[in-house]
Amino acid sequence: MTRKPAIDRAFCMHCGACVGACPENALSLEEVWIEFLSNCTNCGICARACPSGAIFMEGGK
Ligand code: SF4
Ligand code: SF4
Repeated sequence: MTRKPAIDRAFCMHCGACVGACPENALSLEEVWIEFLSNCTNCGICARACPSGAIFMEGGK
């Protein structure tokens, strides 16, 4: 199973760091939430870029 990024919106500060870090432009900062787009490659960079730990990788390896 592929690990995919997920977001706990309770911890998201809408700082946009994950959007800027994504090499695929697969994150979208909407007014008050982050969306993962269909071109996400599950690379995990956004999860490492998030300063609040709101993005995490879920699923198996
Ligand atoms: S896992 Fe990688 S490709 Fe997917 S949204 Fe995060 S940074 Fe972008
Ligand atoms: S980097 Fe983290 S806190 Fe900042 S917008 Fe993305 S998910 Fe939210």
